[in-house]
Amino acid sequence: MTGVLLFLKVIMKIKSLTLENYRNYETQTLKFSPSINIFLGNNAQGKTNLLESIYVLALTKSHRTHVDQELVQWDKKMAHLKGLIEKETGQVPLEMTLTRAGKTTKVNHLTQARLSQYLGHLNVILFAPEDLNLVKGSPSVRRRFCDMELGQMSPHYLHALTQYQKVLKQRNKYLKQQQTYDEVYVDVLDEQLAQFAAQVMMFRHKFIVQLQELAQAIHQPLSSKKETLSLRYLPNIAVKTWTSVAAVQKEIKKALVKNRSRDYMHKTTMQGPARDDFAFYINGQNIQKFGSQGQQRLAVLSVKLAEIDLVKAKTGEYPVLLLDDVMSELDNRRQMMLMKHIEHKVQTFITTTTLAHLKNNMQVTPTIFYVQNGHVVSKK
Ligand code: ATP
Ligand code: MG
Repeated sequence: MTGVLLFLKVIMKIKSLTLENYRNYETQTLKFSPSINIFLGNNAQGKTNLLESIYVLALTKSHRTHVDQELVQWDKKMAHLKGLIEKETGQVPLEMTLTRAGKTTKVNHLTQARLSQYLGHLNVILFAPEDLNLVKGSPSVRRRFCDMELGQMSPHYLHALTQYQKVLKQRNKYLKQQQTYDEVYVDVLDEQLAQFAAQVMMFRHKFIVQLQELAQAIHQPLSSKKETLSLRYLPNIAVKTWTSVAAVQKEIKKALVKNRSRDYMHKTTMQGPARDDFAFYINGQNIQKFGSQGQQRLAVLSVKLAEIDLVKAKTGEYPVLLLDDVMSELDNRRQMMLMKHIEHKVQTFITTTTLAHLKNNMQVTPTIFYVQNGHVVSKK
């Protein structure tokens, strides 16, 4: 066995995927290569739908819509996804069923009651045209990114975030309903809110620091060593030192107490990680304001590639990489740099309308799936 094959043995990969009534696919089963898989076809044939189905199988929701029902084929009641995942620890069958009433998930044929029990069995990193919004969009897009990525990597983060949101809701409800406030009760709420907010913020702080370190190293060669990429966490509550969660909690509690009368006036919680943001800089300039489209796109790509290493560091296994329409946006040299970075490393799925250049820029032989009107067909 060659070194490459030996290496690919220890990465997480999807061995097979079955779609039923998913978007424009009626029934489709695919067996994948552990290395590079290409979904090739004309526009509107179902390439992104395939990539999206892998993303949905991993995360139980789509990157393109919040409305799960849109994923079910138009005239059908139910969509079904099934994937066989191979990990270091063995094979794991994953299943997901979407109906009008909601969705159910299965791991090893057992129904999972909690989202946190399901997430993490298949880790994916997706880079799609919409991801440009990570730089250009509103803070909520970046918060969602943090929550999705950290949630995949850490059940502790998911727990802290859920608890934070629960207490925040409780506090806001109290502020809205009451005319006069019981300081002792608000104090109890603030103590809890500060506790979970501190955990969430510490996770985000560390995530951005680590992501920046990895993304910087990737961005340098991709930009011909001309650009230094940096990321900055912009917490809504200023934190002086990140030495410990307890220290951060203290600062948050102080800020909550200090601004309590403002919260009473507005009848809602005006500060906290629910209003956090982070920003991208190239050579010190904020690229949301000053970056070109190409710079913004490359910065997001570097961040996505950095996440591959981060997921490996956190979970012990490389995630699966999904690249939607990326190649057409990159010049030849960047395509080559990208392929060099990912082949031999992670199982990759690429959608494209043309193989031109792409094949020349690869060292491994990809497995090609020809996509035509909701079917994968064999080559004519
Ligand atoms: P492009 O190259 O333009 O990105 P694509 O091959 O990635 O095209 P997809 O985004 O996968 O195309 O979409 C293919 C088709 O799926 C669309 O034409 C759309 O009409 C169809 N489609 C989307 N949702 C559903 C659904 N719920 N039921 C049936 N068909 C759907
Ligand atoms: Mg597409």
